[in-house]
Amino acid sequence: MVEPERMFTFRVCWMDDKGEYHTNRGWRCQFNGAIGPYKGGLRFQKNVYEGIIKFLGFEQTFKNSLTGLPMGGAKGGSDFDPAGKSDAEVMRFCQSFMTALYRYIGPDIDVPAGDMGVGGREIGYLYGQYRRLKGVWENGVLTGKGMSYGGSLIRPEATGYGAVYYLQEVLKHENDTIEGKRLAISGYGNVGWGIMKKAAELGAKVTYFAGPDGYIHDPDGVTGEKLDYILEMRAKDPMHCKPYADKYGVEFVAGEKCWGVKDVDVYMPAATQNDVRMESAEKIAASGVKYYIEVANMPTTNDALNYLRAQKHMVVAPSKAVNAGGVGVSGLEMSQNSERLVWTAEEVDAQLHKMMKNIHKVSAEAAEEYGLGYDLVAGANIAGFKKVAQAMYEQGVF
Ligand code: GLU
Repeated sequence: MVEPERMFTFRVCWMDDKGEYHTNRGWRCQFNGAIGPYKGGLRFQKNVYEGIIKFLGFEQTFKNSLTGLPMGGAKGGSDFDPAGKSDAEVMRFCQSFMTALYRYIGPDIDVPAGDMGVGGREIGYLYGQYRRLKGVWENGVLTGKGMSYGGSLIRPEATGYGAVYYLQEVLKHENDTIEGKRLAISGYGNVGWGIMKKAAELGAKVTYFAGPDGYIHDPDGVTGEKLDYILEMRAKDPMHCKPYADKYGVEFVAGEKCWGVKDVDVYMPAATQNDVRMESAEKIAASGVKYYIEVANMPTTNDALNYLRAQKHMVVAPSKAVNAGGVGVSGLEMSQNSERLVWTAEEVDAQLHKMMKNIHKVSAEAAEEYGLGYDLVAGANIAGFKKVAQAMYEQGVF
């Protein structure tokens, strides 16, 4: 189970706008297909290498299992750096990437989606090339598509919304409610933005958020038109959040993360892996804040996570459960594609909500069953593992 079923590397050559050629590396790791077609995102980022794709594929296997839907685990990507690239350059890169990958994927084989650096635009270019090469309408081959060719409503917001739904379940368990809660998050991409929006809708607010250049403290919370401004700011320059502080006259602390601030109720790292290391974990524990809800894939280093889990006053929730709503709604997109139907936003949102409640429930129950108390980290691992293991045993050694 710790060995991927297969993992491949391919060459991706593309031409920039000046007519110069570049060569990047692409990867796809088809980690485990025991419970369904391989499923997982593609990440385009300069720092991507095999190790990142492999850990993401491993985590994806158990996350997908937790959703209750029939999806195996996979991940892929490239060390292509999307920063500063024109639309045409991104298009040519995506076309070349798909030319290398299309033989190995399909609606019943492997279904890639977005991740960091891969959003609706990239999925569109990737799908266009797949369709051109195969000459069939198989839109179930990718998820996170645009609404005009088979996307699902709520997919862009799903990970952030799902994370807040999961948080609500944790709060319920602790006889607490979401109203009035102040959240400190990192990241303000798709996922962070979804958290901001859903939190505001449910009467909570994000009062701190961190970006690559530092963190923002907005005691009134990111609500209303500020949510639109975040999108605008991100589209102009994804590397800086300082313009938010300049526009709204709030505090900006350069070069720091908001881990350890005391005037919040919940921490939600929603940026990237290894965001919270031991030094930050010690500050978080010392702050007295009770809830530590991971959102990004493995945002906490192992030592830091163990340290936080050992804190008696804290409740810690793991990313593979908290962020599973994203791939969960991808699963719903696959269902819609095979039915040739589009569900309403209310329908998708209701399914997402139900899924997140269930993920929390099965995780809490699994931990309880093994005498571990309310240990959501162990519970998610156990519950995710069991279904995959069962399927592997029943299918025999291969
Ligand atoms: N990249 C997302 C994740 O980490 C979504 C994957 C998908 O929708 O297949 O789960």
